[in-house]
Amino acid sequence: MFRIGCHLSASGGFTAMGKTAAEIGADVFQFFTRNPRGGAAKAIDEKDVEAFLALSAEKGISTILAHAPYTLNACASAENTLNFARETMADDLARMEYIPGNLYNFHPGSHVGQGVERGIELIAETLNMTLRTDFHTTVLLETMAGKGSEVGGKFEEIREIIDRTELSHMLGVCLDTCHVYDAGYDIVNDLDGVLAEFDRVIGLNRLKAIHLNDSKNPFNSHKDRHEVIGGGSLGIEAITRVINHPALRELPFYLETPNELAGYAKEIETLKGLYIE
Ligand code: FE
Ligand code: FE
Ligand code: ZN
Repeated sequence: MFRIGCHLSASGGFTAMGKTAAEIGADVFQFFTRNPRGGAAKAIDEKDVEAFLALSAEKGISTILAHAPYTLNACASAENTLNFARETMADDLARMEYIPGNLYNFHPGSHVGQGVERGIELIAETLNMTLRTDFHTTVLLETMAGKGSEVGGKFEEIREIIDRTELSHMLGVCLDTCHVYDAGYDIVNDLDGVLAEFDRVIGLNRLKAIHLNDSKNPFNSHKDRHEVIGGGSLGIEAITRVINHPALRELPFYLETPNELAGYAKEIETLKGLYIE
């Protein structure tokens, strides 16, 4: 079954997101756990969560993907930045227990000159300090474009983080189509080859979600700028192959394209038309 949705604003709470998702034809959705520029999260309103769970069951909305703020750098060199990352992740995961069984995604981090190996060490250390056996959320490492000192632009780096994490059974991967293409994985001309590589290095069993975005920049550009579906260097044909690929078609897909709600509704409708039932 095709499950497609998009990034939604969390400012109105869970029930508002569920209503919006239903209105635009989304089966899944993503939201930021707090302002992407950082800061405190809103207090959880248990009544809102309860109403949301009832609504999502009624409307068939599943697999909520909570996205950590961009300012969370799990391998920062500055102590206060690193502490912020660890406290934020621990707090986000504790809050996710209100909606158990869903997904939490974060950008592995930027090593800011410490080197990729030190970055990987610190990210694993962050996960080892944060993951708890009594959490019911799968934590996803997002594949990155390899911009600047970003960690996670290579599948091998993600694999290494997983290998160094004690509770690695709680980890998965979110593949961002814009990011991997910008990182030099040619999903336009060789989707099968890229997925075979993903399977060899990480294992396709770890792949839990797809960020479905076109890219404003050419292959291997290491840029990370999302484009609307069909409007960028990936193009509609490659994206159609992605959503229908046997290894991907059952995963939840999340649009993070530059759109307002009406634009998302249109993209969801278009993609539903391109999915082969
Ligand atoms: Fe992301
Ligand atoms: Fe993404
Ligand atoms: Zn991105």
